[in-house]
Amino acid sequence: ELPPVNGDFYDLSGMLSPEDRALQLKVREFMESEVQPIVNEHWVKSDFPFQLLPKLAALDICGSTYEGYGGIQSSFLMEGIITMEIARVDCSMATFFGVQSGLAMGSIYLLGSEEQKKEWLPGMQRLEKIGAFGLTEPEVGSGAAGGLTTTAKRDGDTWILNGQKKWIGNATFADVLVIWARDVDDNEVKGFLVKKDTPGFSVEKMHDKMALRIVQNGVITLKDCVVEEKDRLQHANSFKDTAKVLRMTRAGVAWLAVGCARGAYENALAYTQKRKQFGRPIGSFQLIQNHLVEMLSNLTAMQTMVYRLSELQDEGRLEDEHASIAKVFCSLRTRDIVSRAREVMGGNGILLEYNVARFVADAEAIYSYEGTKEINSLIVGRAITGFSAFV
Ligand code: FAD
Repeated sequence: ELPPVNGDFYDLSGMLSPEDRALQLKVREFMESEVQPIVNEHWVKSDFPFQLLPKLAALDICGSTYEGYGGIQSSFLMEGIITMEIARVDCSMATFFGVQSGLAMGSIYLLGSEEQKKEWLPGMQRLEKIGAFGLTEPEVGSGAAGGLTTTAKRDGDTWILNGQKKWIGNATFADVLVIWARDVDDNEVKGFLVKKDTPGFSVEKMHDKMALRIVQNGVITLKDCVVEEKDRLQHANSFKDTAKVLRMTRAGVAWLAVGCARGAYENALAYTQKRKQFGRPIGSFQLIQNHLVEMLSNLTAMQTMVYRLSELQDEGRLEDEHASIAKVFCSLRTRDIVSRAREVMGGNGILLEYNVARFVADAEAIYSYEGTKEINSLIVGRAITGFSAFV
C-alpha cells in the first residue's frame, strides 16, 4: 500500500480547531467536485465559470475577516487556508476570490465610510455584487505609488475621472470598481467607487494571456466619468492608505502561491507513484525522489512561513515587509516547484489534462502581480536597512 499524497507534511491543518478544519475540507470538496472537472475547459476558452458563483457563495467564505457585514467570521489564518485550498485546484478562481474578498471588499472595509460599507459589503459577501480593484495603468505598474496618471478633478459635489487602467481582474463584469486616481488639486491618490453603468466608463477584455486565463482582466477607460463625492472612499487620502489594502492582500497572494505549489506537487507525486518506466514506478528512481523532496522541503517552508504570517496578521502586528517577504519567497519557490513538477511528468507535464501545466503557467502571473519580486524585495530592503531604494 502506497502512502497517501499529502502536501501538508508537518500537519499544519492538525493545529486548526475542528470547526476550521471542517471549513477547510468543505472548500476542498467544492473545489475538487465542482471546479476540477471543468477547469481546464474554461482555462482553454478563457471563460469564467459564472454557473459556479451560487455554489461558491453558499460556502459563505467571502469577506470572512470583516466583522459586521454578513457571512461567517474567521481569522486571517483561515482566510489564508481557504485561499490555499482554492488555488490548490485553480489559481484563477483563487485570484477571483482575492480580488473580490481582498482587494475590492478590503478597500471598502478598510477605507470606506459606514454608509459605503453597508451599501456594498453584504451584497459582495454573498457574491450578488462583484467588485474589482483598478490601480495599474497601461504605462504605470510598479511605480503606482507616485506615478498614477489617471486624474480626479473635484467639481462641486462630484469628481471627474479621466484615464486608463490595465490588467483589472473581474473588470468585464464587476458591478463596482475601486478606481485609484490622482487628485489634480492636492496631488494625492484617492479611491473612487465607480459603478459599471456610469457614463464615460468602458472596459475591454484582455485576450491571449498565457496564465490565469479564467481571470477576466480588462482595460478600463474613464472619459469624463462623473462620480459623486459620496462614492469617494472616505478614508483614502493618499497612497499610504492604498498600501494598507495591499499589505493585507499580499499576505493572501503568498497563500495563493502556496496553493499553486501544493497543487502541482501533489499531482506530480501521484503521477510518479503510478507512471512506470524500465518496469518500475518512476517514483522509485533516486533522481525523481530528489526532485520530490526538494519540492516538499520548499513547500513545507512556505507553509510554515505563511502560517506564522497570518498569526502576525491575526495579532494585529502585520507590517508591509512581513507580507512582502512572504510574497517574494513563496512566489519564487513556487516557480521552482511547478517546474520540477512538470519535469517529473515528462511530456505529460505540458498537457492540461495532467493538471500541472496550468500551475506552471499561472505561477508566472502570481510571480508578477501584487508587486513584482523586485518591488516587494525593495519594501523588505527598506525595512531592514533603513534606506529606501525607491526614487
Ligand atoms: P513594470 O512595473 O513595468 O515592471 C517591469 C519590470 O521592471 C519588473 O520586473 C519590475 O520588477 C521591474 N522594476 C520596476 N521598477 C523597478 C525598480 N524600482 N527596481 C528594480 N526593478 C524594477 N493590477 C490592478 O490594479 N488590479 C488587478 O486586478 C490586477 N490584476 C492583475 C492580474 C494579472 C494576471 C496580472 C499579470 C497583473 C495584474 N495587475 C493588476 C497588475 C500588476 O499588479 C502589475 O502587473 C504589477 O504591479 C507589475 O507592473 P507591470 O506589469 O506594469 O510591470
